[in-house]
Amino acid sequence: MNISRFNVDFGNSMYMNLIDGYYFEIPTNVVELSEEKAAGYFTSSIDDPEELLERLLISTTIDGKERFFLVGDIAEKEVLGNNHIKKLHNKVESHIPLVTFLAATAYYQAIKGKENNNEVTIEYFQTMLPIWLLKKLNKFSEMQERMAARFSGDHKVKVLTIGMEREININVKESKCRIESEVARWAIKKNFDLEDNKDAEQFKNYDVVLVDLGGGTDDLVLLPAGLKAPKNRDSFEYYTDVPFLSHLEDLRKNKLIEHFDEVRALEKFIYTNINKSKLERRDGNTGDTYDLTEPIKKSLKEYATIKITQSEGAFPAPKDSVYKYVYIGGVAPVIAESIKEVAEERYGRDIAENNHIVHPEARKVNLFGLEILSRAEEAKRKNTQTV
Ligand code: ADP
Ligand code: MG
Repeated sequence: MNISRFNVDFGNSMYMNLIDGYYFEIPTNVVELSEEKAAGYFTSSIDDPEELLERLLISTTIDGKERFFLVGDIAEKEVLGNNHIKKLHNKVESHIPLVTFLAATAYYQAIKGKENNNEVTIEYFQTMLPIWLLKKLNKFSEMQERMAARFSGDHKVKVLTIGMEREININVKESKCRIESEVARWAIKKNFDLEDNKDAEQFKNYDVVLVDLGGGTDDLVLLPAGLKAPKNRDSFEYYTDVPFLSHLEDLRKNKLIEHFDEVRALEKFIYTNINKSKLERRDGNTGDTYDLTEPIKKSLKEYATIKITQSEGAFPAPKDSVYKYVYIGGVAPVIAESIKEVAEERYGRDIAENNHIVHPEARKVNLFGLEILSRAEEAKRKNTQTV
């Protein structure tokens, strides 16, 4: 099968794909198994390709050795504790991005490809590296090229899930690596038809600080008026000192220990209930309900206060100019109401509304930025083909 646009966000908690406009996500869990354990792992067979997403067991050859991996939901219960919360993984070195990419391609082939055709050609693959990693490792472009090169060319992956066994050959013709958070500006500037976005007019005359609030890091980038490209290295900043998941872990330990056994459960409870009027937990065994609104909202407001303060401190504004702050990333919708409250208390409603903006597609806006770039690339390709 042929894939024209393959866009990927290797998040610390979720791996998100947009493949020729088809979206799916996989929890970023990868567990390596021995060959023997892999062979006996499943005892029953599946026949619906959709079910493969929850049962991804693959193998691939890395540095000449065949290795076996569980990926996504199925690996979740095998992941030990929450050790990964405080550990940020280096996506340029780690095998996790490559393994999840191979698993996702295999899944996509299973649901969309023809039964007897295991060749997958990807015209244009794109992913990103986060600012914290790029800044740490010095030369941005070198790192980006190294990351892009990992995906370029030929790959082989075997699906070992019983009922879905197959071997897939993947060829990536062109591979690019963009800067996470910075690439989101395209999704603010343009729509998917590559036309100017009306909503972006508010940024025509203002420098914008894009604040990407993730589970483990916060990445910030300063864009000149008109959502233009950042000027230089000093236009990028990141914070790793108060990660959202650590903040939630403190809340859990101090106030909610009898309600949540681990931080991931609390996190999920919050993002699935945050838009309801009350954050109520129902005990499945007793049927009792507990109203947890007060401690959770209080804690989210504390977090929003820290994040607004950090965002404002990242790039001190020249005296007579004002920045607009646009909050993106998965944590942004979770603390949207708190951001609004804190900004209103500090600056009044008008300034809060105009200068502290949570993007409506916050969680996916990086991926959408990639999608827009790949659509532009696709249009170029088609033009040169017809000439
Ligand atoms: P990163 O890019 O650092 O991996 P994200 O930007 O994906 O992080 O943000 C992760 C956070 O997004 C989680 O900690 C969670 O609180 C929040 N979140 C909001 N909605 C969802 C969702 N539907 N699924 C998973 N996480 C979500
Ligand atoms: Mg992210």
